[in-house]
Amino acid sequence: MSRESLQARAIAARAQREAAHRRRHARTVARREGVRCSVDGREVVNFCSNDYLGLSQHPQVIAALRDAAGEGAGATASHLVCGHGEQHAALERELADWLQAPRALLFGSGYMANLAVLQALLGDGDLCVQDKLNHASLIDAARLGGCVFKRYPHADAEGAARQLATQAGGAALLSSDGVFSMDGDVAPLGELARVARAQQAALYIDDAHGVGVLGEAGRGSVDHAGLASDAVPLRLVTFGKALGGAGAAVIGDADLIGHLAETARPYIYTTALPPAQVAATREAVRIARTGDGLRERLNANIERLKAGAQARGLALMPSDTPIQPLLVGSDAQALAMAAALEDQGCWVAPIRPPTVPEGSARLRITLSAAHETAQVEGLLDALARARDRVMA
Ligand code: PMP
Repeated sequence: MSRESLQARAIAARAQREAAHRRRHARTVARREGVRCSVDGREVVNFCSNDYLGLSQHPQVIAALRDAAGEGAGATASHLVCGHGEQHAALERELADWLQAPRALLFGSGYMANLAVLQALLGDGDLCVQDKLNHASLIDAARLGGCVFKRYPHADAEGAARQLATQAGGAALLSSDGVFSMDGDVAPLGELARVARAQQAALYIDDAHGVGVLGEAGRGSVDHAGLASDAVPLRLVTFGKALGGAGAAVIGDADLIGHLAETARPYIYTTALPPAQVAATREAVRIARTGDGLRERLNANIERLKAGAQARGLALMPSDTPIQPLLVGSDAQALAMAAALEDQGCWVAPIRPPTVPEGSARLRITLSAAHETAQVEGLLDALARARDRVMA
């Protein structure tokens, strides 16, 4: 057999081994109605979406999407060519106003925005320092660039300071998730802001899971930490989570955002978001800003789940956000727990390595303002039964 075909076989065998280990595939969702849906033909209550305020299904958001559909199905080009319409310009202004920042810039997704920020701000030999549990897109962005990439232990601002102190010259960027996507805890933003200032590093906070949920008027984890908006020169906002749509924006310092708009390849070389999608996000921002009682309902659900878990001896990870993981440990047990929950009509995602560290497989339970009290109570009973069945 030729060397090439032996190599091809070896690659295929490795892919098969890895696939068997991961057992990941996309589930097909249908008939979404609030938090109810059917997954692969089975009726369930969804506890794994990031639709924290239920805005993906909000009648006003859907009406905004429909009303703007007449503007065309797509933006037809990148922002700098002819894709930047009135909807895009208005959303950028409205985001900057809501989040009290000088300027906002839209991106196709949060993943692209993270690639853009690190690519535009850091060059060869510059330093990027990140929390070990940051989102994959921030880690990928640092790995793809020519910067020196260092990580610090989770939520350890002193560790961040030590890593920043290794910089001999050149620019330095300190980056952290505001709310950690797989743990649900919040970053020590006050301390990180102090460290960044002391070490003359730019601070970039990925607030994908904080905006709309935390802080006054849903302004996110920076406001929640009691920081003024300008303490963090750049922030990521994503539209696919609490805002219920798709896309993202980087907001912050006008000069830095201007630099991004002129140099960031993931901004320049991609088609702008469809105008109707942007119109829907504008409506979602209006609702998230006033809150409309949704944050109160979400917080009541979080408190209900935490109290009920404690009463049943279920040790949720420490978190006050809608992300409420239950640490299970082994991959097989996490899968078995998720299957036992699904049998009882509750859909919860099992999260395994490499998304989380080895030995820390978990159920990532997420709550929404759209969950009813009885649904949260139903999940608690289902969790206790699944635990008794699987972990006995
Ligand atoms: N940052 C964090 C913390 C996220 O959780 C995600 C989405 N999983 C992203 C960035 C990427 O955002 P998007 O889905 O808009 O690409």
